[in-house]
Amino acid sequence: MKKKISLPMQILFALGAGIIVGLICYFTGLQDFTKNYLKPFGDIFVNLLKFIVVPVVLFSMIDGILAMDDMKKVGSVGLKTVLYFMCTTAVACVIGLVFANIFNGAGWFPDLHEQLGAAEYTPKEFGGFMSVLVDIFPSNMWQSFVNANMLQVIVVSLFFGGSIMVAGEKGRLCRDIVSSFYSVIERLMEFVISLSPIGVFTYMAWVTATQGAEILGSLALVILCAYIGYIVHAILIYSLSAQVFAGMSPFKFFKGAFAAMIFAFTSTSSAATLPVSKACAHEMGAEDEISSFVLPLGSTINMDGTAIYQCVATVFIASCAGIQLSIGQMVIVVVTATLASIGTAGVSGAGMIMLAMVLETLGIPVSYIGLIVAVDRLFDMGRTCLNVTGDIACSVCVSKWERAKAGKRR
Ligand code: ASP
Repeated sequence: MKKKISLPMQILFALGAGIIVGLICYFTGLQDFTKNYLKPFGDIFVNLLKFIVVPVVLFSMIDGILAMDDMKKVGSVGLKTVLYFMCTTAVACVIGLVFANIFNGAGWFPDLHEQLGAAEYTPKEFGGFMSVLVDIFPSNMWQSFVNANMLQVIVVSLFFGGSIMVAGEKGRLCRDIVSSFYSVIERLMEFVISLSPIGVFTYMAWVTATQGAEILGSLALVILCAYIGYIVHAILIYSLSAQVFAGMSPFKFFKGAFAAMIFAFTSTSSAATLPVSKACAHEMGAEDEISSFVLPLGSTINMDGTAIYQCVATVFIASCAGIQLSIGQMVIVVVTATLASIGTAGVSGAGMIMLAMVLETLGIPVSYIGLIVAVDRLFDMGRTCLNVTGDIACSVCVSKWERAKAGKRR
């Protein structure tokens, strides 16, 4: 009988083939071909993922809350999840700052201060912390769905999940509707995920063909610095938490998370990767009710890769502007980058928009972001990959903690 190639292997082949085709197109001057004829297929695939992401978050979270069937358990899972997210993100910031300072101190960052005047970038206006807080609560839930405002969708899910549970027998119909919808969404997810090798191949070919030169350009060392931070964080923090908290060998952890990592790397969107992360967490033995809760939340507020990127970019931009950050300012970077990463949406390029908040706090002109705009996708691939890995690590750890608490063994 013919053996079917597993999805992670298919994705790996697609990645390799994408790089090879991208390089061929790069050296033969066919960059436009990848942009006009390959990338659109990747876009179709990402559109399909985006179109299911709101129902996935909504039904997955409500279903997860209902499956826990106990408000105390929801509170305990929520608290552990948020604590895990905050601690790992703060560590990510420290790792980012350490490597950025090593690179900067050694003079490995390019000196682009001549280009500063030309660095054109118009940042988004921030209304301040309180207005961000107010915006989390929707005044019209349909609007939240239409705008795919994930923080608001999470709030809607929490309120509905809790209320259906409290309504008891009278809420039974709603409970059944959610569970029935979620089963349908799961089938749809399976179908869309099975198409992921196409998305990975086409996006990879396009990125390699069009941005290959940038990797070799002046920003290569800044990108390298961020990637060292991403890799060190993954090896140190996720291996350690998988081993220590979830009792899972790092090899098994990364093997299990592999499909989602590659997918995040090519799609640059944690939200779009959500269906794949769910499938990985399930395969790795995370409790479904817990990953249904942790993963949507993580894809919205847990961004360790983004935090590392924001720290590296801040040190780099500051050095171009002739500013040496003091220890006190570094502490401010850790706090603001942690908050900025929480506020970053799980979509392509969002981390760069939130970088403005970190720079603004430090008094560095935000227009200097223009220095790195052209290569943001290259930073974004690595940071999204790390963001998603962190979400999966959290779901296996919290599952283990809850299992241990309930005295269950698996
Ligand atoms: N693209 C990232 C994500 O979806 C967010 C970012 O731009 O940092 O996780």
